Amino acid sequence: MTNPTVPVEEKIDLEKKEDVQTYKSTDDIKVPDMIIDQIIGQEEAVETVIKAAKQRRNVLLIGEPGIGKSMLAKGMAELLPPEELQDILVYPNMEDNNNPLIGALPAGEGKKVVNTYRIKAKSKDEKRNLLMMLVIGGILIAGVLTTQYLAAIIAAGIVLLIIMQMRPKNNMLVPKLLVNNEGKNMAPFVDGTGSHAGALLGDVRHDPYQSGGLGTPAHDRVEPGMIHKANKGVLYIDEIGTMKMKTQQELLTAMQEKKYSITGQSESSSGAMVSTDEVPCDFVLVASGNLQVLEGMHIALRSRIRGYGYEVFMKDSMKDSPENREKLVQFVAQEVKKDGRIPHFSSEAVQEIIHEAQRRSGKKDELTLRLRDLGGLVRAAGDIAKEESAPAVTIDHVLTAKKLARTLEQQIADRYIDQRKTYSVFESDGSKVGMVNGLAIIGDRSGILLPIAAEAAPAQSKDEGKIIATGKLGEIAKEAVQNVSAVIKKNTGTSITDHDIHIQFLQAYDGIEGDSASVSIATAVISALENVPVDQTVALTGSLSVRGDVMPVGGVTGKIEAAAEAGMKRVIIPDSNMADVLIEEKYKDKIEIIPVKTMSEVLENALSGTEKDRLVTKMKKITGKVPKDIIPTI
Ligand code: ADP
Repeated sequence: MTNPTVPVEEKIDLEKKEDVQTYKSTDDIKVPDMIIDQIIGQEEAVETVIKAAKQRRNVLLIGEPGIGKSMLAKGMAELLPPEELQDILVYPNMEDNNNPLIGALPAGEGKKVVNTYRIKAKSKDEKRNLLMMLVIGGILIAGVLTTQYLAAIIAAGIVLLIIMQMRPKNNMLVPKLLVNNEGKNMAPFVDGTGSHAGALLGDVRHDPYQSGGLGTPAHDRVEPGMIHKANKGVLYIDEIGTMKMKTQQELLTAMQEKKYSITGQSESSSGAMVSTDEVPCDFVLVASGNLQVLEGMHIALRSRIRGYGYEVFMKDSMKDSPENREKLVQFVAQEVKKDGRIPHFSSEAVQEIIHEAQRRSGKKDELTLRLRDLGGLVRAAGDIAKEESAPAVTIDHVLTAKKLARTLEQQIADRYIDQRKTYSVFESDGSKVGMVNGLAIIGDRSGILLPIAAEAAPAQSKDEGKIIATGKLGEIAKEAVQNVSAVIKKNTGTSITDHDIHIQFLQAYDGIEGDSASVSIATAVISALENVPVDQTVALTGSLSVRGDVMPVGGVTGKIEAAAEAGMKRVIIPDSNMADVLIEEKYKDKIEIIPVKTMSEVLENALSGTEKDRLVTKMKKITGKVPKDIIPTI
């Protein structure tokens, strides 16, 4: 039995603050009817959308993918009054064929009008057919009576041709229903993401037979755009900044005018000659994207939304509180209901999903709101349970799903670890001068080992040494070395300006995020400068302040797991990140986590060999002498 259902009246209603603790499976949890009530963790955005719906204002939603932007837009459509919906008709224009006329009627009326025209056209056709038969019959009879057979047949043929020529004309008068809202009880929600101008603004099809009256009449070739279908409803456009400027400009005009004439979008098409009267397009625009997308957004469009609407920056995590955990219980119930094929989750299985939400947030005491991805895990676990014909999803199903449903980034990371091991790009034992196993993040939370190599040579130029950084993250490396040069001087007494320093990120590739590599870079550089080897069983992550303090970084959980996967024995992380560590059980015995606060602690733990003690003593001597507050900041 899959997807069993507890009667609605017996379900726990979280909206009414009923006690969720008593639930055994997500089947006991009531899923709210309205989409807006199903949105989790985005309270401010929800409040704004409710307000915007009342006033029919445009909304710009900024945030990461998969956190509920399109859900909010759909929820908004549900809040708009459906009684205002209209049907839109396009009529032929007898005086100017290329300028079809537009009519708007209350929803449901459009079809009736078209039918009336059709019936009229049909009865005219029937009358004409009858007349045609009578005339042809008459001619033929006259021919028989006068024995002028040939003339009669020719005359009948001519009459037939003339009438056939007239034939389509009646049909041509029937209007076309452009937008049909018959029977709709919700304002339209139209997703215009990624549409080209024609789909968005409407189009007029090309007619190869336009001349000679044999073709399809212009009004019949008019196609509505999404802006017209969204009339009185919501037009949703994700990644708004990737839309062509010209299209954005036209979208803005449509928004301002609330009506927009349809014309052929392709210049070489006969459709381009046609331009209809203005077609109503009174939609509310919900645009969305991430922060970068704003850069590609038409300034006037943005300012229109700012001036006549709302902008919301959405959250990607929420506080790990009992109420928010309850919301995740509701989320799992929702996803099961939405999928419709997977069984409900036991409360322990939900607990594991909540645990995963903590891990994925990557932050202390937070739960992730990247719920599209989390929904993917819910479905994967559900599929496994279903394959086993289990009555409910258990914690084991969720754990198996986590293993199977590795994201693309995680799979890439796995493969890179394998490859790099094969080609010995990094080592997981022994020690080496100038080589550090750094850690980075790809995608949003998958860790990956980022080997860094540094080499120091006496400066070639007398004035100062150069920092030469190669590899894809060269700029980051240069900046990091400049930032930490004071720290290096402070820690070792060595001035980097006497040296040319070469730094290379080995096999780094696009998509890797390396700004948390400054501790690793500093370690590699110090190792190279001082000729002290680095323990290769250690992986490092951390950001370095110019004072030599180790600052927190993102994605520690993923990084530690990647280090363990790569066979590292110890991992050095910023002490301030300790609360963010939520590694899987299976890694706990594999790797030792060493929290550090300062660069000297990093070196104490990362360097190895007899030279290490010399350096550490030297460091202590120096750092002991230099009070923190007189270290120059760069
Ligand atoms: P976005 O538009 O931000 O990329 P969507 O709104 O398309 O994300 O979300 C995709 C799916 O993920 C939704 O259909 C829903 O199942 C789930 N989801 C995402 N965010 C939320 C949320 N805040 N509350 C509940 N479910 C969510």
